[in-house]
Amino acid sequence: MPPFDLPEGDPFGPHNLPYGVFSRHGSPDGSGHRSVGVRLGDHVLDAGAAATALGSPYATLLARPSLNPLLAAGRTAWSDVRRALTAWVTVPAHRETVASLTHPLSEVTLHLPFEVADYVDFYASENHARNVGRIFRPDAEDSLTPNWKHLPIGYHGRAGTVVVSGTDVVRPSGQRKAPADPAPVFGPSVRLDIEAEVGFVVGAPSAMGAPVPLAGFRDHVFGLCLLNDWSARDLQAWEYVPLGPFLGKSFATSVSAWVTPLDALEDARVAPPARTHPLLPYLDDSAEEPGGYDLRISVAVNGHVVSEPPFSTMYWTAAQQLAHMTVNGASLRTGDLYGSGTVSGTSERERGSLLELTWNGRDALELPSGKRTFLEDGDVVTLTAWAPGPGGTRVGLGEVSGRVVSA
Ligand code: MN
Repeated sequence: MPPFDLPEGDPFGPHNLPYGVFSRHGSPDGSGHRSVGVRLGDHVLDAGAAATALGSPYATLLARPSLNPLLAAGRTAWSDVRRALTAWVTVPAHRETVASLTHPLSEVTLHLPFEVADYVDFYASENHARNVGRIFRPDAEDSLTPNWKHLPIGYHGRAGTVVVSGTDVVRPSGQRKAPADPAPVFGPSVRLDIEAEVGFVVGAPSAMGAPVPLAGFRDHVFGLCLLNDWSARDLQAWEYVPLGPFLGKSFATSVSAWVTPLDALEDARVAPPARTHPLLPYLDDSAEEPGGYDLRISVAVNGHVVSEPPFSTMYWTAAQQLAHMTVNGASLRTGDLYGSGTVSGTSERERGSLLELTWNGRDALELPSGKRTFLEDGDVVTLTAWAPGPGGTRVGLGEVSGRVVSA
């Protein structure tokens, strides 16, 4: 029985322990009771029930229908709970209890694991920003805007339309107008795209007027998840000047059902790319611990891998994004989610959007399911990722998948 008999090197072994929220199919009382769980291989341990059964003081944080109480409890509690969970799934004395509270993933429903407070999306990949600049501003002297190397560019998105992996995404409708068109038209987007990103989940809140410095990142951010920032490029192109993304983005953002705690990613920390411009003191991370994460992302359309974006190439780190997001005195709330921005590496096979992969529709991708520039109804997009773990292991990130359905 899992977890003690997990195969050697399972990316969801006891070194990982990502958190989610699940309910059992056909639960005895039919209530669809939700509980915090941790993933072990292709099973989930009911962490709330385990805490209760083992008389743990952490039952008040884990026997809950959402991760929010745990998120709000802060860094010391996060470490203590993780230590307790690690013991439960590795110490033989707990074997029978844990086995009896562990369920195959095929027998549970995974829910949005936390109540999303505010949602922000950044633009932290230099390769992505340069590709977008070359596509949309071909005559510009520099493919980057003048501010790009001085601050992490972002916008506030729509928290209420963040959905868990597996949720269908309805093709959005809206206005579009190509430069040569005489007038805008209304209808379903014909340029529906993805953005392969990593989402950071804020646990501990902060007070208004109290910026979070770079060194405060680990006190406030609990963990990360994979994130797909669905984007209607035609709606976006017509509406975004001068205030930025709006309806071309706000119809849906998908996140993985599993939140990987930062404590599971210690071996994945890497230095970000060399800084080419001096940074203002609140963003200068030259004296900080490495702020990058070595996450190997894979993007599949209808099961066919089209790209493998490397997160280690991101110019701006999550700590810098948090510092920038709060430097004006804006507060953090438990459940705040911020996206990294599309992850794109240097090579063509490392681009994190169809916009870049097809160069705005010019070069169609040849997939087993047919030619694609942008997404067609019925297409399923799946992001997966792993990171280096302790002793040569891999830390698996929960996948984020979504199917496009017609408007
Ligand atoms: Mn985005």
